[in-house]
Amino acid sequence: MPEFQTSPGMRDILPPESARWRRFVHVFADVAERAGYGQVISPMLEDLGVFQRLGDATDVVTKEMYDFVDKGGRHVALRPELTASVCRAFVQHRPITPWKVWYTGSQFRYEKPQRGRYRQFDQVGIEVLGADDPYLDVEVIALGWEFYRALGLQQVRLLLNSLGEPDDRARYVAALQAHFEAHLDALSPESRTTLQKNPLRVLDSKRPQDAEVIAAAPRIADFYSPDAAAHFEAVQAGLHALDIPFTIDAKLVRGLDYYRRTTFEYQGLTLDSAQNALGGGGRYDGLVESLGGPATHGVGFALGLDRTLLACDDEGVFAPPVTDVQVFVVDTTGGLEAVRLTAELRAAGFSADRAFENRSMKSQMKAADRSGATFAVIVGTNELEAGTVVVRPLRSDLDPASSAEKQAGGQQAVPRNDLIDHLKKALP
Ligand code: AMP
Repeated sequence: MPEFQTSPGMRDILPPESARWRRFVHVFADVAERAGYGQVISPMLEDLGVFQRLGDATDVVTKEMYDFVDKGGRHVALRPELTASVCRAFVQHRPITPWKVWYTGSQFRYEKPQRGRYRQFDQVGIEVLGADDPYLDVEVIALGWEFYRALGLQQVRLLLNSLGEPDDRARYVAALQAHFEAHLDALSPESRTTLQKNPLRVLDSKRPQDAEVIAAAPRIADFYSPDAAAHFEAVQAGLHALDIPFTIDAKLVRGLDYYRRTTFEYQGLTLDSAQNALGGGGRYDGLVESLGGPATHGVGFALGLDRTLLACDDEGVFAPPVTDVQVFVVDTTGGLEAVRLTAELRAAGFSADRAFENRSMKSQMKAADRSGATFAVIVGTNELEAGTVVVRPLRSDLDPASSAEKQAGGQQAVPRNDLIDHLKKALP
């Protein structure tokens, strides 16, 4: 075993998987930018206080943060999520509202690593700051849905809930608190601790011991004010209008203390239930204010890249892209000709690779086959003298050769100066 390996919960993403990651972000960027969202790129490291504003009832903040004091004596943390950073950026730059942004990047949480749960993982997401409209919630939810469709995923379920207005929520939390306190003995020790910080989060517990008490808990729907009820109905009407199916889940409260009204989650039906949340989000208030900005409405979501790709594998969609080069240059004259040819081919828009270390013809042809290229462009001493190259088809599956070429083993001598034109015809 080598002396150094990746830390637990952290992974190297190698080709061709890395190309799939890049395409994932590309597909997401396309969906978001066609809806008027611009990208925010913010630092991976922020003042610890930025994340502490997310509240002390979330494990993400209290237990899982990678924080340390830097050489300048600042207490900083690697971001565990991006909503707080986006809100901090909003306060710092005061853009025109509604501010519609998308993001991508790695997050860091000191969790127990397992399939679909890592200590460094990637997300894509969107946030809209400065608009309070149920149809904006619909837009946000629909973009996530559209993105999964763009990947080809079918086995996704949308869960929807509303936490009501802050007042509704406060009355509900009080009722929940009373309910859980009356059944304290039946709750798991972890949930008893959570209860002291935020009774809502007890609803998040997936521990079997808590299931019965949670099932008997008061329902948020009984606490909605008329405004909250109207907002929730409008969100549902918008989703119906777009034919996006959803299930109302009254237990969906999500992590942030700041969530109000709409919350939602996308579940991957092929994944294990403990890690089946592909992404989620909701409407939040107060976060911008707590970071020193004006009272500002926010709504957004974050989707996990790692888990979504696991779901893609399960459904056999969005496979790693083929990244084979088109042309492989084989040069048995010493390698300088390959320097010129690869540069020329790349400049003409082809993807081209070559072998190094002046290997034998046989060894270079092996490398050419491995590369997945459609053609080998071969140059030996004879060709160099004649000012030609040999173009040899490598992929019998594509079979681009004409019958005359087939008689010659498929290969063809081409004047050096005609190579690019020749390949342009052969490689559409
Ligand atoms: P959250 O920010 O906790 O709402 O998470 C949003 C999404 O990020 C989740 O639905 C997951 O897909 C993904 N996610 C969160 N934590 C992890 C993790 N530790 N490892 C991999 N993906 C994660």
